[in-house]
Amino acid sequence: MEELSHWIDGKRVPGTSGRFADVYNPATGEVQARVPLATKAELDDAVARAAKAQIAWGATNPQKRARVMMAAVGLINRDMDKLAEKLSSEHGKTFVDAKGDIQRGLEVIEYCIGAPQLLKGEYTDSAGPGIDMYSMKQPLGVVAGITPFNFPAMIPLWKMGPALACGNAMILKPSERDPSVPLMLAEIFKEAGLPDGVLQVVNGDKDAVDAILDNDTVQAVGFVGSTPIAQYIYSRGCANGKRVQCFGGAKNHMIIMPDADMDQAADALIGAGYGAAGERCMAISVAVPVGEGTADALRERLVPKIEALKVGPWTAGDDVDYGPVVTAAAKENILRLVQTGVEQGAELVVDGRDFSLQGYEDGFFVGPHLFDHVTTEMDIYRQEIFGPVLSMVRAKTYDEAIGMAMDHEYGNGTAIFTRDGDTARDFAHRINIGMVGINVPIPVPLAYHTFGGWKKSGFGDLNQHGPDAFKFYTRTKTVTSRWPSGIKEGAAFNFKAMD
Ligand code: NAD
Repeated sequence: MEELSHWIDGKRVPGTSGRFADVYNPATGEVQARVPLATKAELDDAVARAAKAQIAWGATNPQKRARVMMAAVGLINRDMDKLAEKLSSEHGKTFVDAKGDIQRGLEVIEYCIGAPQLLKGEYTDSAGPGIDMYSMKQPLGVVAGITPFNFPAMIPLWKMGPALACGNAMILKPSERDPSVPLMLAEIFKEAGLPDGVLQVVNGDKDAVDAILDNDTVQAVGFVGSTPIAQYIYSRGCANGKRVQCFGGAKNHMIIMPDADMDQAADALIGAGYGAAGERCMAISVAVPVGEGTADALRERLVPKIEALKVGPWTAGDDVDYGPVVTAAAKENILRLVQTGVEQGAELVVDGRDFSLQGYEDGFFVGPHLFDHVTTEMDIYRQEIFGPVLSMVRAKTYDEAIGMAMDHEYGNGTAIFTRDGDTARDFAHRINIGMVGINVPIPVPLAYHTFGGWKKSGFGDLNQHGPDAFKFYTRTKTVTSRWPSGIKEGAAFNFKAMD
């Protein structure tokens, strides 16, 4: 069995804690590797080394840092298939989807090539007599990224790209469920020219996370994962004086208006609801058709498509629509929630509970489920299931439908399917959710916009990637300067308007 490591000062370093987490092949249920779980001492040591390396990296001009990003883009493209294979084997998602995971991370690294432009400051000539004023964006120092299992390439790249391009050193604490790809990415960044110690990958669990939160040298923490952990990290990190942004769970609603193209809406729900086995924070897990006729038309189209979904291992190739979920515990939790749906009176129209795949009986596969007549009090409506389970909640009117999405505690993404511009515009303006799709089911913004949810899906005031990331990973210093020839008065005791 493969024994994974940490990545410290530009090389793989074994763990010393004696504690490990198993890394599974979710398709077979077998343990394929184990990953060391760092102690506080290991984490603190990695941070101290990163702080030393950051001094020269922070002083490196932005164009040289951008060249490292540019080289990394080429190398990630070169290794795309190798990365995607490893990603699929630890996460379970299909090969094509794994490449998409890497691609959407890569696009943020491409954006970071613009660091010299993005890091330019502001300058006011002659703000007063002989006085000039300028602002500069400086790196924070050592920052940390704590990432989830469901995008083991994309989200680490979203964290490391902007953090490093801004001149910081980064401690990356990836998910212990699929840690290999982040280690491979660290190797790629070294090959791209990143100096040793500037990116440290420290594997671990709560102990490592707590050590990050309590380490005084770590200036900022970017987290992505479930909402309870996001809230915990946000409050402990903020209490310790760090800059913190945490992105949490989701329950994304798609509203289907009576005038929508029902075939398009059904196709969108299939991809957005069941792709990646529903393990996406932007998955659609709630369909809200407006009017009984809309609901019936949608259901009629959805059922045969759901029943035709091909579930299998990534090795089966393009034939597979989605793979297993990440662990046996994840599977158990999904099936437990499905059971609550049945018990609480929802109609289980497509039942995937008995799904089994010949030759892969021990894999963590979950068949597709569709519930109809779900109500807003049910657990399957209120909680994030993070599996291939779509709930249909029938609304009588558009106002009732938008009200449901607005009243839900999560606010990551949402979509409306309609041909009516007025309705779409009203939806986009009124909804209290961070990312909105109009006839687009998974509205993940591109690298040069920003990504972030509202309500219990996002904590902190800046989003991920795009211009916000360059704000999050820098701090602004403003200098007011005057040279001796411009000093006309003696001591000044009062504030006054600038002449
Ligand atoms: P998770 O919260 O279990 O783990 C995320 C990270 O936190 C991991 O690195 C993990 O090691 C660490 N962690 C876990 N338990 C901890 C604890 N008790 N104390 C400190 N750290 C802890 O999330 P996950 O299961 O890996 O990922 C799935 C979740 O992430 C879903 O809720 C999904 O919606 C969410 N997610 C959100 C976004 C977004 O942008 N909003 C994107 C992707 C995933």
